[in-house]
Amino acid sequence: MRIIRHPAEIRRLTRRAKQQGKRIGFVPTMGALHEGHLSLIRKARGENRLVVVSIFVNPIQFNRASDLRSYPCTLQRDARLVAEAGADLLFVPSAKQMYPASFQTTVEISNLSRPWEGRFRPGHFRGVTTVVSKLFNLVQPDIVYFGQKDAQQARVVRQMIRDLNLDITLRVLPTVREPDGLAMSSRNQRLSTEARRSSRVLFQALQEATRLIQWGHRRENEIVRRMRQVIRSVPGTRIDYAAVVDPETLERMRRVRRPALILLAVWVGKIRLIDCCEV
Ligand code: AMP
Repeated sequence: MRIIRHPAEIRRLTRRAKQQGKRIGFVPTMGALHEGHLSLIRKARGENRLVVVSIFVNPIQFNRASDLRSYPCTLQRDARLVAEAGADLLFVPSAKQMYPASFQTTVEISNLSRPWEGRFRPGHFRGVTTVVSKLFNLVQPDIVYFGQKDAQQARVVRQMIRDLNLDITLRVLPTVREPDGLAMSSRNQRLSTEARRSSRVLFQALQEATRLIQWGHRRENEIVRRMRQVIRSVPGTRIDYAAVVDPETLERMRRVRRPALILLAVWVGKIRLIDCCEV
């Protein structure tokens, strides 16, 4: 596996691969890799001749400077894991290369970016869709791999691909979880021992909502009330949002139909976690 730091270099290599008729799979990440990321890379390895992974902690998608400052950075370990998972190229650009002083273009998906994460993290999705567009242009992938854990992000990227007529297939892969159900996330490293124990409650609330829907409950506000109860029973938690939404429009469903997407964002101590599941 080769580590590439320069945008011009990744472009040269992927262009050559394309000319040779190789299918390119691409997994964008922000590093501090875990099994969730590796599941995407392994899937890409099985489906493509060239597998490219990027690690870039994208400054313009962070709305809180403290979150950006404390984002874990473990490049040496990450590079080993990416190689073991079978990638060919690891692209690690610097913020200066991605956003030179003269930078002034953004990509914004209007409606789908507004609710949920968009409301609690203003500008977040504009940062995501801008950097993802740049990475797609540099890597020229045929297939890109995203995690269901960030369901709104995957939905926003799907819309961007459609709206901008990008010739790219999007695969969204299942959330990889710890044995107690906590969705793997780079931010989990920052949980205190006590918060780590408490963070199980997100998955418990999702399971409770799933059960209610499977039993035939259809009133969204009752399902959400039950999720809130489950979460509030654990001290040190604070809910940003809990909702049952249409997976296509991301709009709250007053009367739940299936498929439905259950969304959660919860502070556990000082760490903000998101999770979701489809039922
Ligand atoms: P991140 O490094 O957090 O930006 O994530 C990079 C990609 O990995 C995104 O497509 C995420 O949705 C995906 N991802 C993150 N956590 C998980 C997980 N636990 N299971 C599956 N995919 C994940």
